[in-house]
Amino acid sequence: MANQYIDLSTVRFLLYKVAELETVTKLPHYQDHNKESVEILIESVKDFADKELYPYIREMDEQPAHYKDGKIIVHPQIGTAIKKAGEMGLIVGSFTYEEGGLQMPATVSNTLDMIMEAANNHVIGYWGLTFGAAELLVSFGNEELKETYVPNMMEGKWGGTMCLTEPQAGSSLSDVKTTAYPQEDGSYKIKGQKIFISGGDHEYCENFVHLVLTRIEGAPAGTKGISLMVVPKHRITENGLEFNDVITAGDFQKMGQRGYCTTHLSFGENDDCQGWLVGTANEGLKHMFLMMNGARISVGRGAAAIVSAAYHASLQYAKERPQGRRVSNSGKKNVAEEQTLIINHPDVRRMLLLQKAVAEGSMSLVLEASKAYDLSVAAESQEEREKNHLLLELLTPMVKTYPSEKGITAVSNGLQVLGGYGFCSEFILQQYYRDIRIFSLYEGTTGIQSMDLLGRKMTMKGGKAAFILVEKIMESIQAANTHEDLKPYANTLGEHLQLSQKVAQFLMGFAMKGEYERFLSDATIFMEFFSNLTIAWQWLKIATAAKHGLITGDTTYTEEFYESKIHTMKFFYKYELAKNHSLSKVLMDENVLTIPTEQEVFVG
Ligand SMILES: Cc1cc2nc3c(=O)[nH]c(=O)nc-3n(C[C@H](O)[C@H](O)[C@H](O)COP(=O)(O)OP(=O)(O)OC[C@H]3O[C@@H](n4cnc5c(N)ncnc54)[C@H](O)[C@@H]3O)c2cc1C
Repeated sequence: MANQYIDLSTVRFLLYKVAELETVTKLPHYQDHNKESVEILIESVKDFADKELYPYIREMDEQPAHYKDGKIIVHPQIGTAIKKAGEMGLIVGSFTYEEGGLQMPATVSNTLDMIMEAANNHVIGYWGLTFGAAELLVSFGNEELKETYVPNMMEGKWGGTMCLTEPQAGSSLSDVKTTAYPQEDGSYKIKGQKIFISGGDHEYCENFVHLVLTRIEGAPAGTKGISLMVVPKHRITENGLEFNDVITAGDFQKMGQRGYCTTHLSFGENDDCQGWLVGTANEGLKHMFLMMNGARISVGRGAAAIVSAAYHASLQYAKERPQGRRVSNSGKKNVAEEQTLIINHPDVRRMLLLQKAVAEGSMSLVLEASKAYDLSVAAESQEEREKNHLLLELLTPMVKTYPSEKGITAVSNGLQVLGGYGFCSEFILQQYYRDIRIFSLYEGTTGIQSMDLLGRKMTMKGGKAAFILVEKIMESIQAANTHEDLKPYANTLGEHLQLSQKVAQFLMGFAMKGEYERFLSDATIFMEFFSNLTIAWQWLKIATAAKHGLITGDTTYTEEFYESKIHTMKFFYKYELAKNHSLSKVLMDENVLTIPTEQEVFVG
């Protein structure tokens, strides 16, 4: 139990019994993977995480990545971890065999990443972004670009980044200014600044392959004029690597995730920065969405992993810390009695259960989305592939946002479990609290994700994606209804589903009238509301799988384990899902208080 950051029994239960990995591995595309091979991966990744990641998480916070003499200095263990991850095939896992990978289902690769991130959330992004950048090259690059860059990236020798953000273009990528000037040889000269670039430079990779959003000289304004370029730090010549005028201008010192460097890159200060077009000119943002969608799942996954780590750290403390006495039915304290452990106080149990509900509900949602991805790639019929693609599109903003936003509250509760010690640097909770804060900001803030959910995903293809989700939830309600003691929860979820349809219809009314600002003004509240429903769905699935285990006497997991899952589902319904009643009132309130009007409200 000491230093436990993730419970592997729960991970396995969610993977095999709730997400039902077998429905993915039985497909021809993934047929080389099965439970036995996945178990070997889980064991070796856990061993790697125990030895190479977890022991360094505090040092990476205390000795943060920083800029010195034109270089970014990171903790040396980052170099060791990247090298080992490359050797273990962790960077290439999800690529197909033809692309040089292991054709691993995303359901499996995200499980492995979640284990590693729970151990240390400062490291995985280094090769996660390398994978994402390589995936863009494999998907849209020509053969020459693929051969030039991808093999070294897969081994972890070269790092990859996504370069979108500029000082004036954060949430609004239509304002990207970095310019690509066409050259006679087909390449481009690149000029511009990119800020906040994760993993943008350090001494443990020989080269960095930046996937950069640019505007080709003369391109139309807005998103329709954005092109994707590959711009290496060092270009490849007959004589080896040659500096490509990508200058690391500085870094950003942060409140959390301090081992994961965040850089400011300057392209073409000396007029000597070359880039090459990836995919089609002016379609760069569309191409980049492949990497952004993957990164959004990764962000939710990372947040879920931190919540798990914080939960286990606070649970361990609660089991060891004596304080006070239980409230007796007489209402009197017996000070002669020995102090009880704080885990026996209902309020502490509430804080622990909240964390467990958020951690495991979020992990389950990450796996649900991963499975939708796998089925969108490999399901046998076109119809199934299309359905899963739409489901993934709808789930993605929630996967990104729910673990990130609710995770802040969950980790804060973890810190609270430790009382005053939670605030002290001797304990890791304060670090998790700082680390998780970035997740609702990068990869599209909560505000942006929420507008994507309500404004685009709920309405896409005439509401087809939402309809598919409703169908899925109905299936889970039916399955839960076969168990007498789950029926009340299945009914509750059904009622909340109806409530969500009422809310959605109310809001859509504004869109139909052309009142788009009003339609989207409470999108973040809608995100909270709809994610609560979606996580409640996950919890009903978890409880149904646990009930099935109990009834069939499946001894893979203990009875206590199954009961604890059902108990946590009940907790989620009572303490979290119930909030949707008041959120629905906010969402359907006719009063408008946040849209700017002539009247100045920020006075005094
Ligand atoms: C540690 C870290 C790592 C990062 N890594 C990368 C990376 O690797 N690559 C990369 O390209 N970028 C990266 N980013 C940038 C990150 O994606 C941006 O910070 C983020 O998209 C927000 O942009 P901004 O900071 O300019 O905030 P702004 O866009 O200025 O937003 C400020 C506030 O206004 C809100 N807002 C903005 N526009 C709207 C709107 N239209 N409607 C409603 N609300 C709105 C936002 O939700 C937010 O609350 C990173 C950032 C950080 C801090």
